[in-house]
Amino acid sequence: MKEIKLNEFAKLECFVDDYSQSQPPAPALLILPGGGYGCICYATEGGPMVDRFSKLGLRCFVLHYRVGENQAYPDALRDGVEAIQLIRKNAKEWGVIPDNVAVIGFSAGGHLSAALGTLCTKLPREFLTDDATTPYIPNAMLLSFPVLSGTEIGHVGSMKNFFHKNELTQEDRDLFSLEKQITDLTPPAFLWATVEDQVVPFENSVLFHNAMVKAKRTAEMHIFPAGVHGMQFGYGRNDIARWPEQAVTFLKDSCGFKFPSNEPKKRFVLSFDDAVVNHYTFVAPILKKYGFNATFFVCNFDEKWHSEHSAANLMTSEQIRSLHEQGFEIGNHTYNHNMGTKEECERELSALTDYLTQTCVVPEPTSFAYPGGPYSEAMAEVLKEKGYKYARTASDSFVLYKPAEDDPLRVPAFSVCYQNYFNYFSNVNKILPSIDFEKNVPVFVFHGVPELEHPWVNMDPYHFEHFIAFLAGNGYQGIAFKDL
Ligand SMILES: [Zn+2]
Repeated sequence: MKEIKLNEFAKLECFVDDYSQSQPPAPALLILPGGGYGCICYATEGGPMVDRFSKLGLRCFVLHYRVGENQAYPDALRDGVEAIQLIRKNAKEWGVIPDNVAVIGFSAGGHLSAALGTLCTKLPREFLTDDATTPYIPNAMLLSFPVLSGTEIGHVGSMKNFFHKNELTQEDRDLFSLEKQITDLTPPAFLWATVEDQVVPFENSVLFHNAMVKAKRTAEMHIFPAGVHGMQFGYGRNDIARWPEQAVTFLKDSCGFKFPSNEPKKRFVLSFDDAVVNHYTFVAPILKKYGFNATFFVCNFDEKWHSEHSAANLMTSEQIRSLHEQGFEIGNHTYNHNMGTKEECERELSALTDYLTQTCVVPEPTSFAYPGGPYSEAMAEVLKEKGYKYARTASDSFVLYKPAEDDPLRVPAFSVCYQNYFNYFSNVNKILPSIDFEKNVPVFVFHGVPELEHPWVNMDPYHFEHFIAFLAGNGYQGIAFKDL
């Protein structure tokens, strides 16, 4: 934990020690414990909240804002504003998404949280902060049994402490009544309270919620039938116990907060052989639609092949270049599929590299696919000499690549064509979940979709898209060899 002193009486606790730059950034939670603006209830509403919400994927901060004798309006607001600005200014170093900063407050801390998203959208900037640029309005407010109103249902002690006054004017009461301070800049609010609360009536929440809805601002409210003031995680009440999970769901669904997934990445390699024209016209747009990458293994059969078969069935150099520009990987699949001696292998490899770099104007490939599937020792030697990173074999049985064990110049792969698609993937929802993606990467080989020249490796477009959509919809990520 890192502690930052804001002034003589206020400090910010930053629970960011476990963050390393290799992790994805996460939403931030600024915790404002209650205490009637007279003290900070850290033991119940500080530390325990850090533990709970850290586990739920938020990066936590606790603010000890100015209270009691040591402050008067707007000191507590200034501390809240400064804390939010500090989190945003250090977002990169602390692993925080700067526009995913939520505040959570309890009782009077709930008032301070809500004031940051209401009153602070109205007050002059210079009244709240000396920083002329950093935004300070939170992106969401989580309000727990909050004090919100300065009307007869409000909490008089909190109000007196907030202003540091014994006699309150009507003007003070109106300013304190946050249901009257909602603006178009007020962020979404999540509220929870208990009907039996005798200290801060639950009507504070109801009044504020209704004002939010009336102002067309987003709000969600949970009023539990039992429980006194300060119920924390419910003290044995299961209905109240679930509010932290509901609050996180609210941040995801109603505030658009982005939580990094802690599921292991389910990655598989997609590869496409023989430069079939529908790789450009049909396959690439579908992969783009679902956010997948792939390696296109290109070959350039000679004139004789072009005249015997339809040249219109092969990608042009411009189309190959376009796939590269769209972010796909272009791999080497030999020029003519003639692999014999080492000299022949060298000729085949460099003839295609020349075609790719000079005619298609794409980078020199680092991935290779053995034609026909089986690898050749001679070619493996050439690939090593030329610095290739990956070379793919192929078979009709469902083998998996194990990066920790297998030779990257002999990556086993599975050829997906119409027939074995049905043999294996009619049960795709059973087969894929049984794979340990921490240790294995499935590598799929496709030819044309459809494949007109080699009907035995045909794949029809309908089932292809169905397969890709299934993978995308179930959290799998299609990658190219270069992404391994
Ligand atoms: Zn081939």
